[in-house]
Amino acid sequence: QKAEWEKLKNAQTVTADGKHFELAANIGTPKDLEGVISNGGEAVGLYRTEFLYMDSPDFPTEDEQYKAYSAVLEGMEGKPVVVRTMDIGGDKELPYLKLPHEMNPFLGYRAIRVCLDRDDMFRTQLRALLRASVHGQLRIMFPMIATLQEFRAAKALLDEEKAKLEKEGTKVSDNIQVGIMIEIPAAAVIADKFAKEVDFFSVGTNDLIQYTMAADRMNEKVSYLYQPYNPSILRLIKNVIESAHAEGKWAGMCGEMAGDQIAVPLLVGLGLDEFSMSATSILKTRSLMKRLDTAKMSELAQKAINECDTADEVVALVNEYTAE
Ligand code: PEP
Ligand code: MG
Repeated sequence: QKAEWEKLKNAQTVTADGKHFELAANIGTPKDLEGVISNGGEAVGLYRTEFLYMDSPDFPTEDEQYKAYSAVLEGMEGKPVVVRTMDIGGDKELPYLKLPHEMNPFLGYRAIRVCLDRDDMFRTQLRALLRASVHGQLRIMFPMIATLQEFRAAKALLDEEKAKLEKEGTKVSDNIQVGIMIEIPAAAVIADKFAKEVDFFSVGTNDLIQYTMAADRMNEKVSYLYQPYNPSILRLIKNVIESAHAEGKWAGMCGEMAGDQIAVPLLVGLGLDEFSMSATSILKTRSLMKRLDTAKMSELAQKAINECDTADEVVALVNEYTAE
């Protein structure tokens, strides 16, 4: 098995019937690139920039951020890099950003909500990203988007900073895709509306599952409700993918589910374009996909969504469809 994976390092990700899917990696710092490259990652599908803030005694400066983003873009040598803007709050705290204590931090002041409110620090991050964009294929992604107004406001700030930089004579790439994470059910439900305005979606299942099932992703007492294969979750994901494709956009996934070996056959069947996972899951997923037939997986996914009542039934169906 190890020998097979070794051979797959420099291979494309193709299914048994020759369809290509993109296998990308999730990273937290530029140092993680080594693992992405040694595991044959085709892209970075999620760069969680909040670690840059969490590992720093104060807000990282524009130049510090520029250096980190440029290092990742250069390290990927022109392959796509999806950088997620700061996703602080919830379980992730910053000692130098005093946030009020909240009853429900996961439903509170976090991520894009903080960024749109404290636009001084958000603009700094956007400027650093725009300046770094000339070093590779940058894609910018906003986290925790619930409404179209939030996306439009974030995009407007990005456009403003881009115009300012260009006026100052700083070069900025004209090919930056701008997308959103789909991790709030409201956004998943009206994905058709978002698809007209964004360049791509990336489904954040870690949060999407927690919010859809109303089950805290950290609370063991309710972990039985944390069900990636629940038909409700599959229906949301299907809606997101179909909405993207209807507008000629692409849909990826950067939550844990993207590298889950039971979920992958379903996601291939639903036509997910990009799978972003921990680097160590890439080769085993590439190996799994080689054995899948997309028409058969599409039939599996439709059956799972239309005929299964429970997550357990979905798992049984996947096992039936993927048995050798
Ligand atoms: C997610 O919510 O699925 C995700 C990828 O983001 P995070 O785990 O950083 O919240
Ligand atoms: Mg999330």
